[in-house]
Amino acid sequence: MSREEWLEERLRPSLAQKLRIDRQLYRDKTEHQDLIVFEHQLYGRVMALDGIVQTTEADEFVYHEMMTHVPILAHGAAKRVLIIGGGDGGMAEEALKHPLEKLVQVEIDRTVVDIAREHLPSISGGAYDDPRMELLIADGARYVQETDERFDVVIVDSTDPVGPGEILFSQEFYAGCKRCLTPGGIIVTQNGIPFFERYAVENTYRRLGTLFQDVSFFLAPVPAYIGGFMAFGWGTDDKTLRCQPLETLAGRFAGLGTKLRYYTPAIHQAAFAHPQFLVDILEAV
Ligand code: SAM
Repeated sequence: MSREEWLEERLRPSLAQKLRIDRQLYRDKTEHQDLIVFEHQLYGRVMALDGIVQTTEADEFVYHEMMTHVPILAHGAAKRVLIIGGGDGGMAEEALKHPLEKLVQVEIDRTVVDIAREHLPSISGGAYDDPRMELLIADGARYVQETDERFDVVIVDSTDPVGPGEILFSQEFYAGCKRCLTPGGIIVTQNGIPFFERYAVENTYRRLGTLFQDVSFFLAPVPAYIGGFMAFGWGTDDKTLRCQPLETLAGRFAGLGTKLRYYTPAIHQAAFAHPQFLVDILEAV
């Protein structure tokens, strides 16, 4: 009988999550990180980078729906969207459900895109073949400093702040994103699990706070990212966009004509409500 293989995801010095590798589909070192794709009994196909779970077929809908539909529907007239990272294509797939004119995705690791297209086709859907989509293989931090393009929404779908993703949590990077936004544009960021990563929300709150008039977080539980709800950073200069009447969001959502699996207008509104421990963390910044 062959021995079971497991991915041990080290989350903290004293904490790890283990996922059984039921069938390995790909494993190699890319130019930037260690990449593995495998099948798991509960999560379906799973992609991990440098030993950290990035996305799973079973729960990706929570993360990708919230990071796209919340800012795009809140904006109300977004035509141009920028995704930084997002190699699995799930963010692009959700964003392209909106009547955008252009979607630019800047991903540093071509192998992540190629392997996700091959082994996780249900996550990107047809996104990479959509004529509105432009995929650039480049460092997102450099792109936002140099591009002349402007966007209504910037979505930072980064790895955690280690390795090539570290720079995507820096003040300099956020300032670059602001530079790329149209007036009243919105930036959203993946900001980890506040229960474990208090420093991640503190740092982003402080850094976005020097750049935008309205800074906050919205929340959603993503099962594979253990430790409770995940926080998504929110920054814009338009203070009217965060708290909008339910009817406004519901009207825009109905206009999409799409049924989603996690996002609803009521979830959108409620996601900006914070438990007291998060209020305390943010007030102390
Ligand atoms: N949802 C995941 C999570 O939080 O665990 C992250 C998604 S994964 C698609 C993040 C992507 O960011 C990876 O494909 C990685 O290659 C890319 N990335 C990391 N650093 C980057 C950089 N500096 N510029 C552009 N993309 C980057």
